[in-house]
Amino acid sequence: MTTHNPPLGELRKRVEFPPEIKAAVWKRDNECCAYCNITNTESMEKYGKHLHFDHIIPHIKNGANTEANCQLLCPPCNLAKGDSTDEEGRRKAAIRINKELERNGLLESIPPAIPGTLIAYSGPLITGNVYTRKDLQEIFNTTDRTIDTGIFRPKGRSEIWLFVTEKKTPDRTQYLDLLSDNTLYWAGQTLGKKDHLIINHRRNNECLLPFYRIGKNQFKGGGFVFEGAFTYVSHSGSHPTNFVLHRNPS
Ligand SMILES: [Zn+2]
Repeated sequence: MTTHNPPLGELRKRVEFPPEIKAAVWKRDNECCAYCNITNTESMEKYGKHLHFDHIIPHIKNGANTEANCQLLCPPCNLAKGDSTDEEGRRKAAIRINKELERNGLLESIPPAIPGTLIAYSGPLITGNVYTRKDLQEIFNTTDRTIDTGIFRPKGRSEIWLFVTEKKTPDRTQYLDLLSDNTLYWAGQTLGKKDHLIINHRRNNECLLPFYRIGKNQFKGGGFVFEGAFTYVSHSGSHPTNFVLHRNPS
């Protein structure tokens, strides 16, 4: 008489990622939730559970058991995503994260000095003032040409500068970059190589500093308004990644 595995067993077998893929993703994602960036250690402390291995394209929608289709999610982000698409999952998770931050008063009232919360800016730049890249090169005595790109890390300072232009010139790719009150919606670089710097800025203790202008000709010499310190809130999509950043309370 032939015996068959119970269907549930077969199902479980298919749903699980092979151990070598889990190990690779664990390392690749730096033991962090892909949506809210919580670490596995923090997840254990906060929820009493490890990060989950999630099918980016849900298994129920024929998502494969491959490394490319695997990401780490903390239990509430995984729950928020459910069997939604990744984009929808990220949106739901972003709403959840924002609500949680607001509920805990983190967006409004936590003083910047508490370690692991918000990183305050301390430096010579004045919030609300206009600076051209040339001004900044002079103030910081730098000849580093990567200042001409959208993301710049000045040497010797734990800072990430973001140069954001709301309206792009016609020769530039059109992404939605928008500063609305205290929220900056910002598309990262197309290749996304520096996305992790933005996502992990608090863990790396780096201050996120947007320089913003409506258009290239808003200010003389192509200047930007220095907006002061912001904090990463969420991200979605890829190529480029869309970020949501909040202004730190003053
Ligand atoms: Zn999460």
